[in-house]
Amino acid sequence: MYAEKTANKDKGSNETKAIPVTSRGIGKDYSNGCFVCGYEFVDAQYIEAAKKRLEAHKEINIKEIERYLEELKTWQLLDNIAVFVDSKEDGEYIVTEMFDNKGARVDFRKQEPEWIQDKFGACPKHLENLIKLNEFITGSGTITKEMVDRARNWIPRR
Ligand SMILES: [Zn+2]
Repeated sequence: MYAEKTANKDKGSNETKAIPVTSRGIGKDYSNGCFVCGYEFVDAQYIEAAKKRLEAHKEINIKEIERYLEELKTWQLLDNIAVFVDSKEDGEYIVTEMFDNKGARVDFRKQEPEWIQDKFGACPKHLENLIKLNEFITGSGTITKEMVDRARNWIPRR
């Protein structure tokens, strides 16, 4: 945390725009994919089959739906970085412009509008890329598209 904040420098260019973030570190959370490979772990065929099963019920079977939703959630429990952002707009900018909507989401809760977070997920294969990204973020107190790209392309030494 000794690095100077570089927020708001180079505001003119999207490539170098830095947005202030505060990392809460790496933990497990429901993620919408891996920021490196996408990691489409939710099997599309399984979802289709499950939908058909649900539709086949004349009466809605709540237990079946609950079980299905729980399964989906379990499958999406990935390593992720949670960061606090200053505004919903910042959070959305990071997800769309820096991550291209891959493996990142805004966690905005109406009941807690002051505590806006972004969540960046990684599959087990790309945990080290996530650790690298967290290093970049905690080192500068900001995030840039360049950091995301560097972490995505980073290959660990074996
Ligand atoms: Zn991955």
